[in-house]
Amino acid sequence: MSLPCVDELELNGDAVLMRVDFNVPMKDGKITDDTRIRAALPTIRLLRDHRCKIVLCSHLGRPKGKAERKLSLEPAAARLAELLDAEIVFSPETVGEEVEQLARDLPAGGIMVLENLRFHPGEQAGDDAFASQLARMGRIFVNDAFGAMHRPDASIVGVVSHVDVAVAGLLVAAEVEALQRLVDQPERPLVAVLGGAKVSDKITVFESLARRCDTLLIGGAMAYTFMAARDLPIGGSRVEADRVLLARRILERCEEKGVAVLLPEDHIVAKELSEGAETRVVTTIPDGWMGLDIGPATASRYAAELAKAKTAFWNGPMGVFEMAPYAKGTLALARAMAASAGYGVVGGGDSAAAVQQMGLADQMDHVSTGGGASLEYIEGKELPGLKALRAKRG
Ligand code: AMP
Repeated sequence: MSLPCVDELELNGDAVLMRVDFNVPMKDGKITDDTRIRAALPTIRLLRDHRCKIVLCSHLGRPKGKAERKLSLEPAAARLAELLDAEIVFSPETVGEEVEQLARDLPAGGIMVLENLRFHPGEQAGDDAFASQLARMGRIFVNDAFGAMHRPDASIVGVVSHVDVAVAGLLVAAEVEALQRLVDQPERPLVAVLGGAKVSDKITVFESLARRCDTLLIGGAMAYTFMAARDLPIGGSRVEADRVLLARRILERCEEKGVAVLLPEDHIVAKELSEGAETRVVTTIPDGWMGLDIGPATASRYAAELAKAKTAFWNGPMGVFEMAPYAKGTLALARAMAASAGYGVVGGGDSAAAVQQMGLADQMDHVSTGGGASLEYIEGKELPGLKALRAKRG
């Protein structure tokens, strides 16, 4: 069933409720990366061009159903006003008579941003009464919050049944198109790179990739759990002892399916996790030292595999990239993804942030705005938000 999209509608001054993903990283009340706000601009502009009255809603962080000042969406609304060079109404409430009146009073092309949806317990509970209150803010519902599409929340799923029309925004449509190329008969070889902290977070992704890809490159802390599964020395590296058996099973499964799995052959090690610690490049990790990044030989080997890829997917940093001495592997991987002639997708979260920080985002075919959502998509799961939109179209 195809996904209904906002660009199919004949819009003219309609009242639109739009779910966005303004779940941006913040430090001391300031937005440190506004990528997700920028990603919503094409749809917002399209709605403004058609003189719609736009009510934007989003979550930010995990306030657990109670107001928390530092998780207010007010800074995001201010940033949006700067980006659009437009006045924006901010509503401290998410639902209720007053907000509905503010929405009705918006001028043609006017925008209102609601306070963090998760300040209301109904959002994450998927409460139908809350969903129906939200739906009163628009005859048309546009969901452009790709990063939240895997959540069955009121503003993602429940709201759909209470509006006349529900469609995906341009960002969601673009994300789905890009990720679908990885799932639907990708051009081969398909090379996947997985890194980051934990095997346990990504078990189902591994299982899915073991069925689909030709080569799997593993880095980050999770590589040490896989090395332990192959009985390789890991010194004092971070390992999930209770996942070693599982890692062994994943390796066996890959072998059965003919998927080549590469683990780091050299490492940047230190005795402690700090920027100032003494570091060494080693092929065998000595006792008392821990692996904090892939080494240069591994980075070259992984880059060579990516150069051969016709399709590539990357999720998770290769080391503790937040600290300069352990960021080289992640940087090398980002460069290799950018240089690869194949179709390359960076799957959200830390790897997307790393690519952004390094100024390489423009050189990728697609950088997903959704970490969890993009992983669930390539696992082959139907995301609840997409399912609701498709079902509404009927
Ligand atoms: P994830 O959220 O699973 O993508 O994991 C990202 C986190 O993994 C980052 O904060 C990294 O600092 C951390 N990480 C990556 N490699 C290592 C490593 N070798 N040892 C410890 N932490 C790591």
